Amino acid sequence: MRSDPPPATAIIGAGIAGLACARALDAAGLPVTLFDKARGAGGRMSSRRLPEAVLDLGAQFFSVRDPAFRRAVAAWRKAGCIAPWPTSLWSAQEGRWARHEDDLERLCGAPRVSAVTRHLAEGLTLQAATRIERLEGSAGAWQLVDEHGAHHGPFARVVISTPSPQAHPLVAPHDATLAEACEGVIQRPCWAAWALFDAPLPALPGVDADWQAVRLADARLRFVTRNQLKPGRQAQGESLSLLANLEWSEARLEDSPETVVEALLEAFQQALPEGVRLPAPSALGAHRWRYAQPDVFATGEAVNRDYRLSASGLALCGDGWRGPRVEDAWLSGHHLGEALVADAT
Ligand SMILES: Cc1cc2nc3c(=O)[nH]c(=O)nc-3n(C[C@H](O)[C@H](O)[C@H](O)COP(=O)(O)OP(=O)(O)OC[C@H]3O[C@@H](n4cnc5c(N)ncnc54)[C@H](O)[C@@H]3O)c2cc1C
Repeated sequence: MRSDPPPATAIIGAGIAGLACARALDAAGLPVTLFDKARGAGGRMSSRRLPEAVLDLGAQFFSVRDPAFRRAVAAWRKAGCIAPWPTSLWSAQEGRWARHEDDLERLCGAPRVSAVTRHLAEGLTLQAATRIERLEGSAGAWQLVDEHGAHHGPFARVVISTPSPQAHPLVAPHDATLAEACEGVIQRPCWAAWALFDAPLPALPGVDADWQAVRLADARLRFVTRNQLKPGRQAQGESLSLLANLEWSEARLEDSPETVVEALLEAFQQALPEGVRLPAPSALGAHRWRYAQPDVFATGEAVNRDYRLSASGLALCGDGWRGPRVEDAWLSGHHLGEALVADAT
């Protein structure tokens, strides 16, 4: 007697949530295919590679609180794709800098943030550069239709791990409850600028010469990191990532990248101790994240779950269903993966 083949799952979005879900399915021997509109995996954990430097413009580091995430992180550490960072974290207010101390473990991808998602994607089937525009079919037999009209499927289950505004048009024609849940999550935008310098930044009085990151109390700029001081990037010169405040980003969302980077560098100049001048940058740029950080979390029946799964085989996961960090996104995808495995076996 032949038994039914295991249900095939499609995952739209190969950020850390989609990958965590895929890994759980794959570990249970269940077939899974990932689709991402970008050239590779990573989503908001990806890096910009310039000839002179690698710049992280999304997540800069991640912290660890949950035991299941801690176990995953231990495996990544063994695989050599993460390292502790930042170890020299500062806070600055009106030119006064102070070392930021707490007991939280912080790590980052090495030699770039995308090393983590690249590691997670190893051995999985990923169709990159494939933007999924709509779903066709019904429970148990879904087809994914890409921007060129090509059909992919059938899949018994479809996981959508994109930010909720991008998930909404995919689920809305098929599932009013999931669509309503997406409407309850606000993903706020964020500008992430970068600047390269031919010479190192000048020394700051009373601050470690190799300070790695600083949180700022400023209406425009919230965080600055020095990419050349991240693990494995010693060969590159002074290269800053400058993350804007969310309110400020929202108000300036349609500004040009040139205007944005200029304003954020000016804010950083004002945050430096008196008398310290930033050298002239050799190259500049800025990336607009339209859906950077979830703000309002969906409520409803499944409020105690950090994913959504409907009887039709459609499911939602990602940071918007749990919280604004890498750890939240991983946990959301991982928990959904466990639920899909339990459902299939
Ligand atoms: C500027 C910035 C700084 C941050 N800093 C930190 C930090 O320091 N620490 C921290 O813990 N967190 C940080 N975060 C948050 C963290 O990056 C996210 O919480 C996490 O990466 C989200 O992962 P995800 O898998 O849920 O979503 P994403 O990473 O957004 O993945 C979704 C994927 O879906 C793909 N996609 C979307 N639509 C489609 C479609 N129609 N078809 C196919 N593919 C599609 C996208 O290309 C993307 O790869 C930061 C985020 C930003 C933007």
